[in-house]
Amino acid sequence: MSMTQKIETPSITYEQPLGLFIDGKFVKGTEGKTFETINPSNEKPIVAVHEAGPEDVDIAVKAARKALNGVWAETMPSVRGQYLNKLGDLFDEHIDTLAAIESLDNGKALSMAKVDIGLASGCLRYYGGWADKIHGKVIDTDPETFNYTRHEPVGVCGQIIPWNFPLLMWAWKIGPALATGNTVVLKTAEQTPLSALYAATLVEKAGIPAGVVNIISGFGKTAGAAIASHMDIDKVAFTGSTVVGRTILQAAAKSNLKKVTLELGGKSPNIVFNDANIEDAISWVNFGIFFNHGQCCCAGSRIYVQSGIYDKFIEQFKARTQKNVVGDPFAADTFQGPQVSQLQFDRIMNYIQNGKESGAKLETGGERHGKEGYFIQPTIFSGVSEDMKIMQEEIFGPVCSISKFETEDEVIKKGNETTYGLAAAVHTTNLNTAIRVSNSLKAGTVWVNCYNMLSYQVPFGGFKESGIGRELGKYALANYTQVKSVRMRL
Ligand code: NAD
Repeated sequence: MSMTQKIETPSITYEQPLGLFIDGKFVKGTEGKTFETINPSNEKPIVAVHEAGPEDVDIAVKAARKALNGVWAETMPSVRGQYLNKLGDLFDEHIDTLAAIESLDNGKALSMAKVDIGLASGCLRYYGGWADKIHGKVIDTDPETFNYTRHEPVGVCGQIIPWNFPLLMWAWKIGPALATGNTVVLKTAEQTPLSALYAATLVEKAGIPAGVVNIISGFGKTAGAAIASHMDIDKVAFTGSTVVGRTILQAAAKSNLKKVTLELGGKSPNIVFNDANIEDAISWVNFGIFFNHGQCCCAGSRIYVQSGIYDKFIEQFKARTQKNVVGDPFAADTFQGPQVSQLQFDRIMNYIQNGKESGAKLETGGERHGKEGYFIQPTIFSGVSEDMKIMQEEIFGPVCSISKFETEDEVIKKGNETTYGLAAAVHTTNLNTAIRVSNSLKAGTVWVNCYNMLSYQVPFGGFKESGIGRELGKYALANYTQVKSVRMRL
């Protein structure tokens, strides 16, 4: 099989790299295996890419280790920053190609994919800015001692990313790791390998030395597991399901006790009070659940509406949702494309079936959209009780559950009745309510009168079983550095 293939998308034609990007070169996997990636809009294969197994992970780790101790250690922090700035600029220059690949492989609307690329390039430049601003402290203890700290890179970082925001996750992981002087072996999700490989060509173009960034395509149980248990990987950063997050933590504990950061799932409460600006709230609630086809770890999937506006809210929310345009990701007015895979489609349809059978009221949606592709109608259930599966489990699709509440105390209790704690939102025009409720919700992010607002300057991560550590902002730098104390007797 060749190492590139010309691919035609509805918006552009481009040359797709297919190999594993290891030590600055695209190579075949040692086992000679390939796997196909499927276009979720028509269920047909797009192309086959080379597959990494444990031996390829090992080769990539060796390249990353060599670069870590060699060329990258000799690169000045300011130059690391220049590389990240250049990489960010290249993302912007190639936005049409990168966005088209995301829409083709993941199914997200082209307009939304362009927003992702803009956020990814901004993130890379943001961390480029941090690269020469990472420093320790001098700490006074007594006149005979001179103490200082150094913030050193953790080392070789294994990074495992999901399929819901392939390039954004790529940038969230690679930006802070490189800024702080680490090298990486990043494994993409098997559903969406294409954009990350194209981005590897931009790593080359930016002049980043060979071995600093290694990108591999492969499956979780083989390549992913090999990263988690590798004895020469110093840290693993993972985004994906809570089930796999646990496996990774266990593998790290059983191997070399590598550092682990996890960004996992959620079942986030979105709370609308009687005094909310109802039109504004409906628009954000709609965006909170249906953005990216509900495939967001922070999706506002549990909607609590206060009794005074409950009926009006449902009527207007239903009307708003029915206007969401579902269809071809390449069409200009599309808001919601297909789910990423047959497996996800089936999982979500099972949850919808369960909702129908459990006594919740189906307000709108609930069926497949169209005849081919993994499209699902935006679906709203009302009258959902706390014990129902659709209220408790992460569906990761365009399905939300609405429940009525009377008092602030009641909704705080319900909002927190979950093992997750990634995000939450409050809609109210009362500042006191906004602050009281935000402070009481056990979640890593609380949005007030908005939803899904993510900026690379602001930390993001989970309370409870939604994760360990924080991504983005200054906080992510701590995930990729270790503090050394030097104590000198004078
Ligand atoms: P997943 O957790 O299985 O996959 C995410 C990544 O982990 C992929 O790169 C995958 O190859 C890798 N992986 C899988 N098993 C692994 C293992 N044993 N060791 C190391 N790496 C492994 O997620 P999924 O099956 O694609 O989706 C299932 C559910 O996960 C979704 O329905 C959703 O609830 C959740 N999810 C959450 C996020 C998020 O952003 N938090 C993203 C994707 C999926």
